[in-house]
Amino acid sequence: MKIYNTLSGKKDDLKPIHGKKINLFVCGPTVYDYSHIGHARTYVIFDAFVKYLRQIGYDVFYLQNITDIDDKIIARAREKGVTPKDLAIAFEIEYLKDMKTLGINSISKYARATNYIKQIISQIQRLEEKGYAYKIEGDGIYYNIEKFKNYGKLAGRTALGAEDAVTRIDYSKDKKNRGDFCIWKFNETSDESEPSWPAPFGAGRPGWHIEDTAITEKFFGAQYDIHGGARDLIFPHHEAEISLMEAISGKRPMAKYWMHTGFLTVSNQKMGKSLGNFITIGDLLKRCPANFLRFFIVKNLWSSPVDYSESAMIEVKSAADKIEEFLRKIKNAKAVTKNLKLAKTFEKSFYAELADDFNTPKAFAVMFEFIGKTNILLEQNLISKKEAQEIYKLFQNINKIFGIINFEKVNKAIPAEVKKLAKLRELHRKNKEWQKADEARAQIEKKGFTVEDTKDGSTLKSL
Ligand code: AMP
Repeated sequence: MKIYNTLSGKKDDLKPIHGKKINLFVCGPTVYDYSHIGHARTYVIFDAFVKYLRQIGYDVFYLQNITDIDDKIIARAREKGVTPKDLAIAFEIEYLKDMKTLGINSISKYARATNYIKQIISQIQRLEEKGYAYKIEGDGIYYNIEKFKNYGKLAGRTALGAEDAVTRIDYSKDKKNRGDFCIWKFNETSDESEPSWPAPFGAGRPGWHIEDTAITEKFFGAQYDIHGGARDLIFPHHEAEISLMEAISGKRPMAKYWMHTGFLTVSNQKMGKSLGNFITIGDLLKRCPANFLRFFIVKNLWSSPVDYSESAMIEVKSAADKIEEFLRKIKNAKAVTKNLKLAKTFEKSFYAELADDFNTPKAFAVMFEFIGKTNILLEQNLISKKEAQEIYKLFQNINKIFGIINFEKVNKAIPAEVKKLAKLRELHRKNKEWQKADEARAQIEKKGFTVEDTKDGSTLKSL
């Protein structure tokens, strides 16, 4: 397959370091607040991507960190009058709950930063030995970007941009270079409100960037296949990770492929906590089922921005309804006719689009074209039971990657009493007893179904 790689600036053939084994790391959340649907965008994309890779035969180890020590956590804990540790644990639980409701279950290992302090200290010592790190008394240990020749090779720049994710810990007036970043912040007077760990170079806490390199080195070694995250992390976070790890190991590249998801935006502005334009995952899922949010996310190209709006969600609902309606019809197909091998042809073109940079919009366009054509064949009674079973099974497999179809709804049998109510409603409509017809509809809806009137008559559907 081919994948767009930020490091090379083009689509590259995916050639893992160890054959069919892929080591993938994605930057996890900083747990100081609820996650919003912008976070969901990045995590749903990688969940679907990993499930796809596994389905086509790769053995993927998907590692994600959890940043549970950070200035933002310390500040928020102070505001709330709780310890940073308790705050981080509470929001980690919320994050994992959100991931579960979104069907994100492909992660092999979640690694909490504070469980890897030993590895972080070891990396700092090696950087000091090699002359990449320097100490500012009473402040912290900083990484000297000037010592790393290729600083800027991922982002193509060394200056901060407007949408870059930053951390306050890096600000110091005594730094050697403007872009130097803190890898260890001193704090000798540890109390519960500002955690600190003992270290040979002085007690303190780790900086953001080095948490990730310590974790990836522990699980993957100095080099691995894919590193992911959203675009705001390219600079300085990922640039810093490269310079840290490559300076320590002397091996290049740290990660072969860099995948950066586009932002989820609202009115074309990045959804974020600081802008206050966010919708938490929990709030959105009160209004729509998780499979709709997944569908909204995966039907757009992973690397492009995607604008959230109510009308976009209505479109998603109607697209999901279309697939479910199609599958209901497929389940009932039993014509005595020859196998047209439709499933095989569709499977080939659908997966070919995924193999080309995981191009989901093109893959779903292929799907809807297939549904349109097959619907005509269904109407002409040209789909055999065996063919229908193959098609149904293929949609189940596709759904294992994307989680966009509610098969429970597709398979929900319509109870006899609901069918009776629908007949009664038809009768009332014929007699122009509109109020009675409406009452029958309301009773049908109370039982979890709805009636849709088309030119060919009325059909019952699960709500
Ligand atoms: P944070 O908890 O802010 O460190 O973010 C966790 C992950 O979500 C990172 O990979 C971010 O880049 C990503 N992220 C945050 N906001 C958005 C957004 N609006 N769209 C897409 N990804 C985002």
